[in-house]
Amino acid sequence: MFAFQYNTSKIEYNLIKSKRKTISISVDSKGNVLVKAPLRLSDEKVLELIKNKSSWIEEKLLLVQDTIGQQQERQYKNGETFYYLGNEYVLKIIEDTVKKRLSVNIYDDKLVVTIPTSKADFIHEGIGNETIIKLAIIKWYKQMAKVKILERVNSYENLFAKKRGPVIVKEQKKRWGSCSQDGTLRFNWRIIMAPEYIIDYIVVHELCHLKYMNHAREFWNLVESILPDYKIRKEWLKKNGIMLEL
Ligand SMILES: [Zn+2]
Repeated sequence: MFAFQYNTSKIEYNLIKSKRKTISISVDSKGNVLVKAPLRLSDEKVLELIKNKSSWIEEKLLLVQDTIGQQQERQYKNGETFYYLGNEYVLKIIEDTVKKRLSVNIYDDKLVVTIPTSKADFIHEGIGNETIIKLAIIKWYKQMAKVKILERVNSYENLFAKKRGPVIVKEQKKRWGSCSQDGTLRFNWRIIMAPEYIIDYIVVHELCHLKYMNHAREFWNLVESILPDYKIRKEWLKKNGIMLEL
């Protein structure tokens, strides 16, 4: 990791040198700066070239911070957008005088949360509408994730000789999925926000661990034999994983 000071910000970057002719600088969705440079260029020369691009890098980094900031400050109010199976839905909150229970549904391009009026009164005094709505949406995501993930597991599992264990959909902070020695498959409920072809990649990835409990060449060959374009899906997840935060 290299770093230099620019205005008030410290810019850190990773440098990869290879047999290439030009220098390239990129900033990913997490704010990592990656520099690819020709072998013949000295680190000092690379630094000089990067410094010339400082304002561009800083601009990109601010943009990333903005996006991350927005993600963390998601509001549970009318008009906020939510992802479900890769599509965007606009939150619409409805108070209902007849219904007794809170419900979450998708209608057209809307994610509709219905709150019974009786409950709404209670909520105003208590923990707040937004928290109630957030919890309701998370509960709904988890229910949807269970159904969808099991459906996707079922459609791929017959390709594998070893029987899988139970499928568990749960809260996981850092991982999208995992497969344990006994074949238990665990998935992060947040993947329900991703397009189905991404869910398929995560499902196939974990199922392939039934055969190989590592990420060696044979493992990836197996993934590729089932999903020839798995690299595109993997890349999507790397780039857009942040989208799956609430
Ligand atoms: Zn893995």
